[in-house]
Amino acid sequence: MVTTLIQNGTVVSATGRVQADVLIDGEIIVAVLAPGSALLGNDLAASVDRVIDATGKYVIPGGVDAHTHMQLPFGGTAASDTFETGTRAAAWGGTTTIVDFAVQSYGQRVFDGLAAWHEKAAGNCAIDYGFHQIIGDLNEDSLQAMDGLLDEGISSFKLFMAYPGVFYSDDAQVLRAMQKSAETGLMTMMHAENGPAIDVLVTQLLAEGKTDPYYHGVARAWQLEEEATHRAIMLANLTGAPLYVVHVSAKQAVEQIAAARDHGQNVFGETCPQYLYLSLEENLGAPGFEGAKWVCSTPLRSKAEGHQDHLWQSLRTNDIQMVSTDHCPFCMKGQKELGLGDFSKIPNGIGSVEHRLDLLYQGVVNGRISLERWVEITATTPARMFGLYGKKGVIQPGADGDIVIYDPNGHTSIGLPVNGNGKTHHMNMDHSAWEGYEIDGHVDTVLSRGKVIIDDSSYLGSKGDGRFVKRGLSQYLI
Ligand SMILES: [Zn+2]
Ligand SMILES: [Zn+2]
Repeated sequence: MVTTLIQNGTVVSATGRVQADVLIDGEIIVAVLAPGSALLGNDLAASVDRVIDATGKYVIPGGVDAHTHMQLPFGGTAASDTFETGTRAAAWGGTTTIVDFAVQSYGQRVFDGLAAWHEKAAGNCAIDYGFHQIIGDLNEDSLQAMDGLLDEGISSFKLFMAYPGVFYSDDAQVLRAMQKSAETGLMTMMHAENGPAIDVLVTQLLAEGKTDPYYHGVARAWQLEEEATHRAIMLANLTGAPLYVVHVSAKQAVEQIAAARDHGQNVFGETCPQYLYLSLEENLGAPGFEGAKWVCSTPLRSKAEGHQDHLWQSLRTNDIQMVSTDHCPFCMKGQKELGLGDFSKIPNGIGSVEHRLDLLYQGVVNGRISLERWVEITATTPARMFGLYGKKGVIQPGADGDIVIYDPNGHTSIGLPVNGNGKTHHMNMDHSAWEGYEIDGHVDTVLSRGKVIIDDSSYLGSKGDGRFVKRGLSQYLI
């Protein structure tokens, strides 16, 4: 077993920061020591296998990205990152755990969908991974299967109030699933947009010749996000189900979540980096077909309406509890291009799994959130929310040795895919939704269960390093 000592760094947690050394024995953190402590001998550094010097750097728990879609079939194509390429890119960016969405498609049995996801991921991942279960066909059989999810290490399921004819659940189905959620403690995750209403607007816009990517944002109006969020909250209120609203982008939806929390409901909200930085006007509205790069659902919102500022504020005040990526990459060539002349055929999704820690760190630099809050919303809360805490999301004895050494004096330029031309991201995409973003910080070193997988700009891991992690119930429920 390799022993590793991370020396001289500032260990940052959700609750504070302290100068401390971290000792890892094999895969597990065994001690967090005051600098100079002789408790484990006068020269601990000489007695371990490896010493990492973290002078002037932050030592933080590895990122937990609770919302990814590796190789997800969507809109006649599939997300371009496999579990292999996507988890490797995540590692480059300091994320050491993902929770991906296993899919039960319409007409498929829940456990067949889950088994297919295990098959895609097993032996291919660079970092640890868990699954949420998408319920795409809520029927008697599915309801029964949901009783067995927790034993499989899956403590949450996702429903869609959007995408009629694909993943859509109507209100009757949502109600029944939420009754199951209340009964079992499984977290209901909701894609909250009024899909049938959106589809009417899409048809009308296309008939008027409004086919550019910009109209994706027009059709998916904030009113339809607010309405669905409110409806989900009321159904959760009625049934007692814990509710987690994914990819919140409208400030009005945030207000619905905040009000429900004020009333004591177990309602939680997640946002994503794209909703904090990117906008309807500047990105979806880019000239020609370029806006297709930023077609995702919920859509980017208007900067003039102030959604981005409101979302940053809600992260600070805890009206929104955490940030995931909703990583769902598609190439422009052959994928996004399917929607040339018809925005509704553009595959929905943005690739960000590599950039979440950096983009949120820039929020610290810009005075939007504190350093501790950065760790909380990227690692600690996701781990607590989805039953991983203790092993993940924290630096303490007994936790997995998932650690990032982050250099606040470093710099990261986000650019095009790496292909030998000095380009700078590792996701399997032919473009970047984040090209030109400059970050005043840098992921220097990443350890996954005690193994150094990223060190000074080299990848030292291998496919299959990552293991499936069984999750327990959310720690936020009583
Ligand atoms: Zn969604
Ligand atoms: Zn998603």
